[in-house]
Amino acid sequence: MREILHIQAGQCGNQVGAKFWEVVCKEHGIDATGSYGGDSDVQLERVNVYYNEASCGRYVPRAVLMDLEPGPMDSVRSGPYGQIFRPDNFVYGQSGAGNNWAKGHYTEGAELIDAVLDVVRKEAESCDCIQGFQICHSLGGGTGSGMGTLLISKIREEYPDRMMSTFSVFPSPKVSDTVVEPYNATLSVHQLVENADACMVLDNEALYDICFRTLKLVTPTFGDLNHLISATMSGITCCLRFPGQLNSDLRKLAVNLIPFPRLHFFMVGFAPLISRGSQQYRALTVPELTQQIWDAKNMMCAADPRHGRYLTASAMFRGKMSTKEVDDQMINVQNKNSSYFVEWIPNNVKSSVCDIPPTGLKMACTFIGNSTSIQEMFRRVSDQFTAMFRRKAFLHWYTGEGMDEMEFTEAESNMNDLVSEYQQYQDATSEPDVEFEEYVEE
Ligand code: GDP
Repeated sequence: MREILHIQAGQCGNQVGAKFWEVVCKEHGIDATGSYGGDSDVQLERVNVYYNEASCGRYVPRAVLMDLEPGPMDSVRSGPYGQIFRPDNFVYGQSGAGNNWAKGHYTEGAELIDAVLDVVRKEAESCDCIQGFQICHSLGGGTGSGMGTLLISKIREEYPDRMMSTFSVFPSPKVSDTVVEPYNATLSVHQLVENADACMVLDNEALYDICFRTLKLVTPTFGDLNHLISATMSGITCCLRFPGQLNSDLRKLAVNLIPFPRLHFFMVGFAPLISRGSQQYRALTVPELTQQIWDAKNMMCAADPRHGRYLTASAMFRGKMSTKEVDDQMINVQNKNSSYFVEWIPNNVKSSVCDIPPTGLKMACTFIGNSTSIQEMFRRVSDQFTAMFRRKAFLHWYTGEGMDEMEFTEAESNMNDLVSEYQQYQDATSEPDVEFEEYVEE
């Protein structure tokens, strides 16, 4: 058994996490009380990756829920699958983080962190052989962002050889509450570069655009955005939850996708895109799905893959379809667009088929790409950060919690370095470097 421990932090993390569990429970035939009522053995074959089996035969999510205020977790508890979680695994404070990363990371969050770690430890100890952790959070607020990254660093310290993957929601002014979000996000990225193994980027800017432009929703709500996120999370974790070959655990997924350790921020995509509550009128074909998952419009990150190159990519198809047709279609895309894939990593695109489709669809596909174009999103956040930081605007909220200005400077340069590294590999060719040739001549 190779268990995963799920953690959801802050308002966004808890809202997104609750949707994730709803979707996953339905796929595994588990109802809101934790009872199995499914119709296929494969639903239970790897159910232990995400669920504990209680003595009464109920399935309990291996999930820890944390927040610095009680509100979002009350909503989870009273939501459709709220009773399925272990009551002891709700850990919360009363103060809130007021969208202040410093409160989450250094003051309020630091006070609550040991209580969270106790629950995490308890869950980890009851595992046979835990493979790693996944955390859902936003980077723009205070709790998911500041306290979420504090928890990541504490877990890294205690479980250095286990995988840490994140579902990280990046802020966008299109759906934002506050102006300091670029600060919180940059401070978080600084942490994620060092302490996380794999980060699935969920960019509110792109999610909003998908809702508005593709799904024609006039005023997209968090519910609409989270619908896209939960479909994507279900797709990404599908190969961990059901029997199969490709990316069958967190480490294999990371090995395939991460050629350089710092470059572990992934663009993810989903097809077909369908709005909440609406129906798919017609099953898609494999060529249609393939076309859609490579389309910039289907990426949950506001960056255009055609402005960069893919270091690596993975596509997970779901439903009954021909593996050969999938392979042919995928090869076809690569052959026709070879300049968008670095030639110095041969066979850098993998695909797989899981025959269980997501609930309500005949076929779907989830995409994970390590594209150098993701620097566009980091540049966007960095520009917003720098505009304020140049004038030291709002800094007193952070220094007031004991933070040093230096940490802002370091976070800013770490993110700028990340952007340069993406650029460097975007420009790299399989030819030897010029410097190297000169050196040989000497
Ligand atoms: P926290 O409770 O202190 O972690 O703060 P929030 O999670 O509310 O963080 C604010 C950021 O998260 C902003 O960028 C919001 O746009 C975003 N956000 C909050 N709730 C949701 C949600 O349910 N879905 C999505 N996609 N974004 C959210």
